[in-house]
Amino acid sequence: MSTGPLAPGSVIGILGGGQLGRMLAMAGAKLGFDIHIFDADPDCPAARVAARSWAAPWSDDGAVEAFAARCDAITYEFENIPVHTVSVAAAASCLRPGARSLELTQDRITEKRFINSVGVATVPFAPVDGLADLPAAIALTGLPALLKTRRFGYDGKGQAWIRTPDDAAGAWETIGEQPAILEGAAGFVRELSVVAARSIDGSVKAWPLAENIHQDGILRQSTAPAPGVDAALQARALEIATALGDGMDHVGVFAVELFDLGGGRLLVNEIAPRVHNTGHWTMDACGCDQFEQHIRAVAGWPLGDPTPHSAAVMTNLIGHDVDDWKALASDPQVRLHLYGKRKARKGRKMGHVNRLAPLRG
Ligand code: AMP
Repeated sequence: MSTGPLAPGSVIGILGGGQLGRMLAMAGAKLGFDIHIFDADPDCPAARVAARSWAAPWSDDGAVEAFAARCDAITYEFENIPVHTVSVAAAASCLRPGARSLELTQDRITEKRFINSVGVATVPFAPVDGLADLPAAIALTGLPALLKTRRFGYDGKGQAWIRTPDDAAGAWETIGEQPAILEGAAGFVRELSVVAARSIDGSVKAWPLAENIHQDGILRQSTAPAPGVDAALQARALEIATALGDGMDHVGVFAVELFDLGGGRLLVNEIAPRVHNTGHWTMDACGCDQFEQHIRAVAGWPLGDPTPHSAAVMTNLIGHDVDDWKALASDPQVRLHLYGKRKARKGRKMGHVNRLAPLRG
């Protein structure tokens, strides 16, 4: 169990071995740490760049304990890890961020109540546990409204729009008749995100806001710094991130997805208690990128300087986009990042590219 900052050569464990774990592992190696990956798949993207990997399911308490006992600190790259697994790991090592960040963000109702409790605005919402709850929920949110599963939603999955009261039964069926949240429609002009880091001493540093475009519910492109953001909006984003980071007592990087309503008004859509796809632009455009920053926070090191030296457009390579790797590799404007996934599938994130430009203003 660590007390002071972890010295290089210490072992940092990562629960989850996808592309976020892989990029964290590479950043950790750069700072001299040995990175151990825990994932059910021994051939996962992160395991292939790590010092050691532990292949076992989340439910294998013995394996989680053995892994945790070997680590000086543990972090996670994925928010849907069972809270039980995380508490087993936390009992044997130093878990950063803590289980509270997961508990507050795994369930959309708990998450929105938490966001409102620290004085930050969201769309109106209501819990829906059965079809019979929908009329009262609609009365609260108005129409149109979006029905989402409370848990395990990602990349727009488990969601259905209700535009007229007649859509209610169909929407309930579409989301699989699971515990849900009904959200009022955010009349946003664009989607933004702020990626920030909080250190063990509670200081918070954020990168400039990114503007994000989704296609079929999956992030396609982030432009950062987001165009047309004045100092007041960036300051408001930092204020929101600080309130949420402090409220979670978070240590590490986290992302806040925002709806920009125009006129300086922001609503929080959701929080990711981890490094985030909308922060990938920082890898090539900033002094300290989100992956190094997360490792620094987990290790109890001072946070690095997030200031960008360039503007960037990050484009995800989804499914067979990755087949263009030769053309991308020969384009001098492109910084190519590939995740080492063995097979391209529709909707699967295979890599991303960053295209840099001089900073405006
Ligand atoms: P989420 O899974 O909550 O990130 O939602 C996926 C996408 O659906 C968001 O990026 C928005 O484009 C859209 N969306 C989610 N919630 C709302 C809402 N309450 N109003 C309007 N659009 C939404």
